[in-house]
Amino acid sequence: MLTAIVGINWGDEGKGRMVDLLSEKYDIVCRYQGGNNAGHTVVNERGKFILNLLPSGILRDSTINVMGPGMVIDVEHLFHEVENLRKGGITITPQHLKISHMATICMPYHKLLDCLEEDRLADKKFGSTRRGIAPVYSDKYMKKTIRMGDLLHPDYMKQKLVDIVEWKNLTVEGGYHHEPISADEMISWIETYAMPFRDYICNTTEFLGSAAHDGKKIMFEAQLGALRDIDFGIYPYTSSSSVIAAYAPIGAGIPYMRLDESIGIIKAYSSCVGEGPFTCELFGQDGDKLRKAGGEYGAATGRPRRVGGFDVVASRYGTLIQGATCLALTKLDILSYLEKIPVCVSYDINGVKTEKFPTGQDLDIAKPVYQYFDGWMTDISGCRNFEELPENAKKYIKYIQDKMECPIKYISVGPEREQYIEM
Ligand code: GDP
Ligand code: MG
Repeated sequence: MLTAIVGINWGDEGKGRMVDLLSEKYDIVCRYQGGNNAGHTVVNERGKFILNLLPSGILRDSTINVMGPGMVIDVEHLFHEVENLRKGGITITPQHLKISHMATICMPYHKLLDCLEEDRLADKKFGSTRRGIAPVYSDKYMKKTIRMGDLLHPDYMKQKLVDIVEWKNLTVEGGYHHEPISADEMISWIETYAMPFRDYICNTTEFLGSAAHDGKKIMFEAQLGALRDIDFGIYPYTSSSSVIAAYAPIGAGIPYMRLDESIGIIKAYSSCVGEGPFTCELFGQDGDKLRKAGGEYGAATGRPRRVGGFDVVASRYGTLIQGATCLALTKLDILSYLEKIPVCVSYDINGVKTEKFPTGQDLDIAKPVYQYFDGWMTDISGCRNFEELPENAKKYIKYIQDKMECPIKYISVGPEREQYIEM
């Protein structure tokens, strides 16, 4: 059984929370893309955890966690993430955590280049998390990166790194007039932060292939939402990675296998971190109240997220791109304070209304068409089955389900593990 848990929107839909809940039924949880630009919040009986690199299954002792070949790993960040979890009583051993020998290491100079470029762009900046993701993926496609498996051959790795640093300095020194990167410093950084993970390195093609063959259940955890996909998202305000479900078997190391299920995590309203077109955005008091109610501040960066009503146009597109076989609607409880619930039902592009998600300039100029639904104005965080929900909440859920043309299987009414309804 291969299941992907993916985001339908711009990210922060509550993927980590749903992976934590559903991973109970799975043997293995696998991250297949991205790096520590992700921020997944999990609240369970052991406490509150924010995971950037580790798969959210790490919080269950019985689950094996895999970091796949498609990932870019800042090993210094991983080192601290592991330390923090250990302090919180979480066991992390090579039995629990397997890191692909093909995964790419995100180096300190990738972070540096991310910052140098964002600063150069000034008011035209992309709103990067400044964690080196775009530079490291660029280098991957330039075929000039260190991979986890290189750590097993230190002399080979060092020579490769010296050559890469020489090439990188053409840009750092020559282009940005910044002081050059030192190869020695990079080697000692690798020794401090990467070498401790040598025993965790694994051929995930072999591991996952034989696990699947033995009938193990594997879950793939996406790092960002559909609209951040490098190809299908709001380019160039996207991530530099492929976040879509179809990529999961590739990024995990088993490109020859097919997904059985794609569970789309879809939020009851919209939020978006950083720059770029966000048609359904609400401003002023309406936006402030929703942001506050939803606690919309980035888990990875602490940045206030932009917010808006549920966006039918963007969400239909996200549901399609993710090939969602069912949906989990999250954060429905957040809307309980609203007398009238705003929903962006279509886009207006040069006076023409459309439900088709546009790209490029059309997306930049699109204006939201809002409709208002009656709210329920009562706390629903204690509801555990559909029948207990107020009529207006049921209507809202059914409306979204019809518009998405995809069954809603789970409804999340709070951040804690048990705060959900299964349909
Ligand atoms: P992810 O990146 O998709 O994993 O989502 P984040 O963790 O960045 O953001 C989701 C936030 O909403 C976290 O703080 C969660 O604890 C919280 N959350 C998730 N589901 C619900 C829900 O149904 N209700 C409420 N109130 N909070 C939720
Ligand atoms: Mg997040």
